[in-house]
Amino acid sequence: MIFVLRADAMESDLQDLRARLEGLGFVVEQMSAMGRSVLGLSGDLDPTRLESVKQLRAHPAVADIHTTLRSYRLVARSSANESRSVWLGDLEIGGDAVVMMAGPCSVESKPQLFATAEALQKAGVSVLRGGAFKPSTSPYSFQGLGDAGLELLGEARQAFGLKVVTEVMDPRDVEKVSAVADLLQIGTRNMFNYDLLREVGRGTRPVLLKRGFSARIEEWLLAAETVATQGNDQIILCERGIRTFETATRNTLDLAAVPLLHELSRLPVVVDPSQGTGRRDLVAPMSLAALAAGADGLLVEVHPDPVEALKDGVQSLPLSDFLSWQPTFQRVARAVGRTLGPESRVR
Ligand code: PEP
Ligand code: MN
Repeated sequence: MIFVLRADAMESDLQDLRARLEGLGFVVEQMSAMGRSVLGLSGDLDPTRLESVKQLRAHPAVADIHTTLRSYRLVARSSANESRSVWLGDLEIGGDAVVMMAGPCSVESKPQLFATAEALQKAGVSVLRGGAFKPSTSPYSFQGLGDAGLELLGEARQAFGLKVVTEVMDPRDVEKVSAVADLLQIGTRNMFNYDLLREVGRGTRPVLLKRGFSARIEEWLLAAETVATQGNDQIILCERGIRTFETATRNTLDLAAVPLLHELSRLPVVVDPSQGTGRRDLVAPMSLAALAAGADGLLVEVHPDPVEALKDGVQSLPLSDFLSWQPTFQRVARAVGRTLGPESRVR
């Protein structure tokens, strides 16, 4: 870590800065580089001390601080061959097999959920998605069935032997949702809800942490770190698109995030091309692109009758379309050394 000093720094300020850094336990060496005075720091730097050091950016002797150190540690990748597997019971996410998660945006009724679950189970899909508690930008759009939706998810889980992923929005609901869900979804609007992150971190259910639509990669990883600091390190990241100047798609799906996160972090990465594009016609092509980029799973919105959907019908694939894409998804997965589908369902 390097502190670049202000050219007009007073000697007394410099001495004060040195003393503070040494007080934090660092060995400090003053050097000059390209005509500027700099302080080089050596010593062990844990994330808490890193934060204290960063605060010294406000010191009157400091012009800039340069660091290549990461502000997260528990979710960082520490070696090239480190496993990134998270287990939902007997189902591995982050291994050779890419895991397909599909289902309606929202649980709407028993016939809707069961028709979907039955078709998915037959196709060898392992995880059923469906929101019971829906975060909505508009208070006038469908808010989800709540407890009744959760109950239906529990019934479908039992009836079809599928794993269930569903969103939890309120820290007070974590226990209740954990009783049904195999995987707790934290939605894009809640990625910055640190009370909720800590609450799921205190539990034992794996967490699907969606990227905040305005979140940088580092902020997203720090949100995952917040979960992990509470003891639960079973975290899966889900890229679901970010807000950019482009309005032709609902969000801009940042697929470069997939290989980048694999490099930076030990967590598996799933892609949601449905929220990521907001357009049904783009969901399958972007699923293929996500597989090619190395995604460990896909989260896809499907519906038996998208025209009748209470939410996100425009981006939901009709079940029949989704099923007809499976062989192509599998071919791309195989092309990048992965498997997808029934043959890799349970280990
Ligand atoms: C969803 O999965 O239906 C959803 C609301 O996701 P996001 O939080 O990514 O918008
Ligand atoms: Mn949705």
